[in-house]
Amino acid sequence: MSDRAASAERVVRLLIEDEWVEGTGERIPVVDPSTGAAIATLATADAHDVDRAVRAARIAFDDGPWARMRPKERARLLWRVAELIDADAEKLGALESLDTGKPLHIARDIELPAAAEAFRYYAGWATKLSGQTKNVSLPGEWLAMTLREPIGVAGLIVPWNSPLLMAATKLAPALAAGCTAVLKPAELTPLSAERLGELILEAGIPPGVVSIVPGLGSIAGQTLAEHSLVDKITFTGSTAVGKHLLATVAGTLKRITLELGGKSPVVVFSDADLGRAIPSAAMGVFANTGQICGAGSRLFVDESVADEVISGIADIARDLRIGGGQEPGVQIGPVISDAQRTRVLSYVYSAPEDGAEVVVGGSPIERPGFFVEPTVVRVENPMARIAREEVFGPVLTVQTFSARESVETIALRANDSDYGLSSSIWTRDITRAHRLARRLRAGEVRINTAFGMDEDMPFGGTKQSGWGKEYGGEGVEAYTQLKSVTVDITP
Ligand code: NAD
Repeated sequence: MSDRAASAERVVRLLIEDEWVEGTGERIPVVDPSTGAAIATLATADAHDVDRAVRAARIAFDDGPWARMRPKERARLLWRVAELIDADAEKLGALESLDTGKPLHIARDIELPAAAEAFRYYAGWATKLSGQTKNVSLPGEWLAMTLREPIGVAGLIVPWNSPLLMAATKLAPALAAGCTAVLKPAELTPLSAERLGELILEAGIPPGVVSIVPGLGSIAGQTLAEHSLVDKITFTGSTAVGKHLLATVAGTLKRITLELGGKSPVVVFSDADLGRAIPSAAMGVFANTGQICGAGSRLFVDESVADEVISGIADIARDLRIGGGQEPGVQIGPVISDAQRTRVLSYVYSAPEDGAEVVVGGSPIERPGFFVEPTVVRVENPMARIAREEVFGPVLTVQTFSARESVETIALRANDSDYGLSSSIWTRDITRAHRLARRLRAGEVRINTAFGMDEDMPFGGTKQSGWGKEYGGEGVEAYTQLKSVTVDITP
């Protein structure tokens, strides 16, 4: 299956229950973004395939062993999945790099261990989910408690920017909670999910507990979201599709968690350790070619250090080793598709109309594949399209502030966005850092770092960046519901 060499003839299949089948929907090429060449064909899941997967998940939940399995047994199986991911690092990392264009070392040595860690972290939670006993004031004598129960069948819809990690971030808590799951990988990047499915079966997760249905969002994703036998949708993707899904799930009132887009501010004060702030700000937006939801894509810098910071980031942008994911020493790869490259460049090309100045980059890189130069744009107009909308490419906008501006004013400017996913602050003044951290309307604030994600830290946005949290205890509780049980023990 995933051992087969990359070729357009290789058909990526769906996992329904414990059967590998070709989707009955449209056939689309799976493209290596580093070359533009087809590396496989995806036989997409159509509505009928998704329906079969959902019914299998329903039966596995209602009648199967999973939800009633002893928690420590579920934990053991999740831990086993983590071990198999680790043991498969070379193959899985290579597939992920090929499919997304991201550098092999990022896929294999960073995202893959993080995916394994998600399974290990949530393996630990399987035995720690519980309700409470309650101190009720009813007349007589009572035993009152809440039971924390799995919500049922979870539909998991993931994007293409970090496909394996996103799948793991949803599957691990869903399974730890006792849910069964139907995973819908992005149609552009189905390869690592197929391999993950093999490992899940190898680990001994019972048939039907996990099905995998890569397919078009408008067909496979939509069917999953509408399906009356699905109890919960967890979606990571664009804000536009997130809003659409919210309207869709209203039809069945199923629960939903939404991890959506961002336009995250990075605030650099003049007293910051610029030796760390400059490379962090650069890689905070250029890593993964800017295709990270929490990318620090909106820099606000004190005008007294702006030239130094901008030229430092521009130097890094010029020096980055850009190339195909499998090329040795590469730091950033292509964007995911030709359409994404066109979209990213359209923001840059139209930016001067809003008074913006391109400091570095701003062009496609002329070679096969979908490459864009890392780009820095100075833009003082806060209404500029490039400063407001999520570009999802290697593009940083820079605005300046003066030392006279208060923390409140800077917070207002940083918060002037529809999004509120991540943010970061660079200063040595701890009071100022924390005063600003309280005022930023974002799901997370990173102080003196661009990176701060951990399995135990809840992640999820405010405003139009989403609803709910993934990771941490909140991430697994999102796949559970409480039932109140009262027992009259009055003699
Ligand atoms: P997208 O919204 O186009 O697609 C995401 C997934 O949704 C894909 O699997 C797609 O097939 C599916 N989909 C599309 N239309 C659908 C529909 N009508 N019904 C059901 N499913 C549908 O997003 P994308 O372009 O793949 O990913 C990029 C976006 O994801 C960016 O906006 C980025 O910020 C966001 N993202 C957010 C996070 C986060 O944690 N907040 C993480 C990564 C990416």
